[in-house]
Amino acid sequence: MKLCIAEKPSVAKDIAKVLGATTMKNGYWEGNGYWVSWTFGHLCTLKEPADYTDKWKWWDLETLPMLPSKFGIKLIQNSGVEKQFNAIADLVAKCDEVINCGDAGQEGELIQRWVLAKAKLNKPLKRLWISSLTEEAIKEGFQKLEEGSKYDNLYAAGAARAIGDWMLGMNATRLFTLRFADKKQVLSIGRVQTPTLALIVERQIQIDNFVSETYYELKTTYRDVVFSSTKGKFNSKEEGEGILKEIETEEFEIEAFAQNEGKEQPPRLFDLTTLQVDCNRKFGFSAEETLNLIQNLYEQKLTTYPRVDTTYLSEDIYPKVPGILEKLQFYKRFTDKLKGKKIRKSKKVFDDKKVTDHHAIIPTGVTPSGISANHQKVYDMITKRFISVFYPDCKVSNSTVLGFIKEVKFKATGKQILEMGWREVYADISPEEESNEPQKEEQVMPVFVKGEKGPHTPDVQEKHTKPPSYYSEATLLRAMESAGKQVDDDELRDIMKENGIGRPSTRANIIETLFKRNYIARQKKRIIATQTGQHLIFLIENDILKSAELTGQWEKKIRDIERGEYAVETFKAELFDMVNELVHQVKHQKAEPKKIGCPKCSKGHMIRGRSAWGCSDWESGCKFTLPFKFKEITFSDKDMKSLIEEGESHYRFKRIVKKKEELSKVTLNKKLKLEW
Ligand SMILES: [Zn+2]
Repeated sequence: MKLCIAEKPSVAKDIAKVLGATTMKNGYWEGNGYWVSWTFGHLCTLKEPADYTDKWKWWDLETLPMLPSKFGIKLIQNSGVEKQFNAIADLVAKCDEVINCGDAGQEGELIQRWVLAKAKLNKPLKRLWISSLTEEAIKEGFQKLEEGSKYDNLYAAGAARAIGDWMLGMNATRLFTLRFADKKQVLSIGRVQTPTLALIVERQIQIDNFVSETYYELKTTYRDVVFSSTKGKFNSKEEGEGILKEIETEEFEIEAFAQNEGKEQPPRLFDLTTLQVDCNRKFGFSAEETLNLIQNLYEQKLTTYPRVDTTYLSEDIYPKVPGILEKLQFYKRFTDKLKGKKIRKSKKVFDDKKVTDHHAIIPTGVTPSGISANHQKVYDMITKRFISVFYPDCKVSNSTVLGFIKEVKFKATGKQILEMGWREVYADISPEEESNEPQKEEQVMPVFVKGEKGPHTPDVQEKHTKPPSYYSEATLLRAMESAGKQVDDDELRDIMKENGIGRPSTRANIIETLFKRNYIARQKKRIIATQTGQHLIFLIENDILKSAELTGQWEKKIRDIERGEYAVETFKAELFDMVNELVHQVKHQKAEPKKIGCPKCSKGHMIRGRSAWGCSDWESGCKFTLPFKFKEITFSDKDMKSLIEEGESHYRFKRIVKKKEELSKVTLNKKLKLEW
């Protein structure tokens, strides 16, 4: 008998049906030479500290770091899990061959391999590797089963990730809790969770410290087109109005007019992160909600494997495209236009080099019936995106107009769609709704002739500089993908993915964990850092724990293990060193920040009051204080320290200097007054 093990009962049932194993037994299906059993996600987990030695049973600084010389696994303690595991172990002992039918990804491989290791597998191992759960895909997969050993590196990478999370999480959580926590409080620290929190806290500080500046812009309207002065921003209204007076009565003259035709390609197909980002923007779904919806669509055979981080298809999908399009009957109004024509084959869609285990998320062609409204929204987004990549490019005309009045120059730009191309697929959605963010107004441009003149209506507009935006789940996912760097370009994003933090399939879970621990909170779509979250990040001096960039480098190593280009033993040895060093540093870190001496009397030190720091020697008459707030800037303890010790603030704040926005610092002058 051949034993198949799937990751979920429902998937086992689908596979059993295709194989003809139709008799239900206790914990498996039987028939046609097959047993088909299942796990419920993870049945095994890494052992806990106390399983290694009694010394690690209690939280104690003296027993840190905890570095097991060999990591072991154990069953998750739950009667249902134990029962199912026993059924599997029994079949493993009796069968001739095992076929690993786990979810075709790193986590799926780990779940199955741990169960098989625990069941002491000594039979040949095969692997079913499929990208969708349709009957056709399952049949095809069984016709070309792979050797189990082909995925040894994937298993190694999954195990390395789990060990890395254990080493850092277990040690750092105990370390910081024992060192800094109030009674009964646990300071939870995670390898990916904490740098993610640090990104949110950092942004929060920038926003809290932001001071808005007023500036003025000179504009004029000529033939219903708004032109902006090329002089840029003015600090004072008077300056703008002075120029306005000079040009008001004069005619506006066109200096140059240029129109260029351009093409806009269809947006890329979806990988998991982009899908989560777009669903958050458009429908306000959390990353976790979208993951659950798409996982469900996959299990209902409607879409392909979702936990992917590629936006490409392999070339062998190309001949299947007309067949899939044909089956999308609810989208006939769009697919009809592609019928009978050669299917477009763009390098932005088909590229074998950009596809490894799985391809981008696309519809399978199975027709949905009776799915919920939210499932329908996600399905619709994926299907429309799939159809649109076979449509022609959208043709646009970009215009630039230059004009002047006396010596003052003006400029305006505009865009016009000449041929809709792929935009036809989205024609029933307004651009606003499509992105759910205010679009930059693109003005439709009439034709101008050089030398033409006429009356115009100038005015001076008051504007205000804006603080950076709070993270939303959409922008946070993007920030995790690029390890905190702002990346707007698709090509660059592909490269950055290598060093992103977390895996696409685990990011939703990491964000949810931060919510559950009350380190972050939702305010509509905004993510804000709570006091508890901010406090935790302030306590952590060590960059290993909070730098997204450093975490991204570890992430890269795990990817290299998956490719067979990095040794697990080296990875573990480096982890050991890192944790050792961390424990040493934190054990000797001062619990309270060093006392900052009073700059006025040099006798007292700074203490926190209600609205300011003040001198501890106030009773002897020292009146020195430093307010928490200065011109709407809120200082942190770090700012206070650097103001007194270095004479300037730690953070830089945006302000307008000579019409330009620049980063500037607050200083404490020799007379001990704040200025900037
Ligand atoms: Zn003093």
